[in-house]
Amino acid sequence: MSPLSPRPAGPPTWRPPEELRRTLYILAIALGLVVVLFLNVLTYRSGDVNLYVQVVLPVTMIPALISLGWLLRDGPLDVPERLMFFTVNVQVFAQALLEEMQRTAPAGETDLLYWSVVVNVMLGYLIFPNRVAGWYSAGLFGFSAGLPWLGVALRGGVVSPDLPRLQLTVGIVLLFVHALSWYRGQFEAQRSAVRVMEQLAHTDLLTNLPNRRGMYPAVEALLASGGGALLLDLDHFKRVNDTFGHQVGDEVLARAARLLEAQLPPGGRVGRWGGEEFLMTLPGLDAPAAGALAETVCRAFRTQTMVDVGVVTISAGLTLTRPGDTLPSLVARADEHLYAAKRAGRDGWADRMAADGPGSAGSGPAFPDV
Ligand code: GH3
Ligand code: MG
Ligand code: MG
Repeated sequence: MSPLSPRPAGPPTWRPPEELRRTLYILAIALGLVVVLFLNVLTYRSGDVNLYVQVVLPVTMIPALISLGWLLRDGPLDVPERLMFFTVNVQVFAQALLEEMQRTAPAGETDLLYWSVVVNVMLGYLIFPNRVAGWYSAGLFGFSAGLPWLGVALRGGVVSPDLPRLQLTVGIVLLFVHALSWYRGQFEAQRSAVRVMEQLAHTDLLTNLPNRRGMYPAVEALLASGGGALLLDLDHFKRVNDTFGHQVGDEVLARAARLLEAQLPPGGRVGRWGGEEFLMTLPGLDAPAAGALAETVCRAFRTQTMVDVGVVTISAGLTLTRPGDTLPSLVARADEHLYAAKRAGRDGWADRMAADGPGSAGSGPAFPDV
């Protein structure tokens, strides 16, 4: 992804790696199938009628089987995840309703349903965005909290004296889970915004290369490890703008950036130092290797046609790091050598100030000096 591409909307949700989740889902469904089969055999043998075991569970195995097929075919996880979430919810709703319908003790006597609610809500926060999960949580809580009261109102009986306190506790737990998830979402959103801004501050918009500030770490690393630095400047670039217009000039700059990237040695970085100047780091390269690379870069420009412009050559000043060098001292030396290369006729590189400096005379720039 380019550093400037828009990021996906919404805060990211942390989840275990995909392959682990796939394996866990497959195991869970396989286990579920065995358990449902086992419960049905037991119920059948006992001669009882249990709607939940004999109807609800077998019916909900249909979406579970579809999910299993999807998972085994290595399809994306979204579909089976949502299908399984739906299945588990149907099971919980059906269990709650059937329990209420078959109730003999005071309503709300058992807190088992609330545990299922809390676990399902947490699952919801893992699978869905915060807002969707929040609505789901509110809905599920409303259903599970209202059911015993509704059951008593419609079917008679009494409500357990502990029920209001239990419902209040569960409500607070769910609010707390939502607040945590919201806070985490805000935190992630801010963190990614800071990351994007940091990237923008260190990236040149036109060429998508690191800008001068973005190159500082690479130069610091070069000063620590040793190697070469190449300061490059397009030849007679002003004439490109004057002849073909600023927009074509911009295109040439972007093309030049790609060409320079293609010449990078291992571990090297190239950035836009300013205007039509670029800086390339050549970590670990000695004088012959750095010189050969400088020559390759100049040749690459010499042998490429750029947009409608034709050939645009480049000149380069090469220097190697020295003990006690700083970023300004290194770049100042490379700049002096670049000046030498320009004075020697452009379309070449220099690694010293002597008159015979340029390592290559080349075939001449696109706009020869007059
Ligand atoms: P030399 O061979 O001596 O380097 O000559 P030059 O014409 O390349 O150098 P000069 O410094 O005279 O001109 C540099 C030109 O680069 C002038 C400026 O308009 C142009 N330039 C700098 N930044 C950009 C940019 O972002 N887009 C475009 N299109 N032109 C730019
Ligand atoms: Mg120039
Ligand atoms: Mg310049």
